[in-house]
Amino acid sequence: SSFEEIDLGESLNRNIKRCKYVKPTPIQRHAIPIALAGRDLMACAQTGSGKTAAFCFPIIHAILKLNRLSKPGRVAFPLALILSPTRELACQIYEEAKKFAYQTRVRVVVAYGGAPIVHQLHNLEKGVDILVATPGRLVDMIERAKVSLSMIKCLALDEADRMLDMGFEPQIRKIVQQMDMPPCGSRQTMFFSATFPDEIQRLASDFLSNYIFLSV
Ligand code: AMP
Repeated sequence: SSFEEIDLGESLNRNIKRCKYVKPTPIQRHAIPIALAGRDLMACAQTGSGKTAAFCFPIIHAILKLNRLSKPGRVAFPLALILSPTRELACQIYEEAKKFAYQTRVRVVVAYGGAPIVHQLHNLEKGVDILVATPGRLVDMIERAKVSLSMIKCLALDEADRMLDMGFEPQIRKIVQQMDMPPCGSRQTMFFSATFPDEIQRLASDFLSNYIFLSV
């Protein structure tokens, strides 16, 4: 099977070719159609499985369909949020997402701790569609009223098990709470995790609705 068969649209197909992806990996083949159908998803995926594209392609596709232009402003209103446990992983996801969104109007911004916040805030003020963030830094930005999650349509948690191991559960709960307050509409949530301990199952039943469990 090929990416064309999944029907991701012209811009994404062009960028997939540019990245030299020919065939979807198993996680991509299964997760992308489920996500495109708007379903919540809990996916078992290891590093190297191609999981980044598995959640980035449907997110970019959804944003292109929304037809909204991200506006500059003192408060950022991202449409999609990708949470990552570490700065390194956040930067990797950011670099990949930028390639997938190349020459589209989809704007990707990254925010992580352990670095000055000023430059990251400056990037946010220029407008953002997809925000890739680590939980602690994002909570900081929300508390400073620099980011509002009231427009979020897609949420992806990458390496959810690692985020819990690192003690980020309170931050994650705080972040998701922000998305559940009015005027937030319906949100699509995707969990990616290498393992599925009880804590992840619990988080999934709290945050996902009527989700499909995927293990490849
Ligand atoms: P990930 O698991 O998302 O970290 O991806 C692992 C590596 O595989 C990255 O370097 C990706 O760019 C690459 N990759 C992901 N999907 C594909 C694909 N369908 N074809 C070729 N390479 C891919």
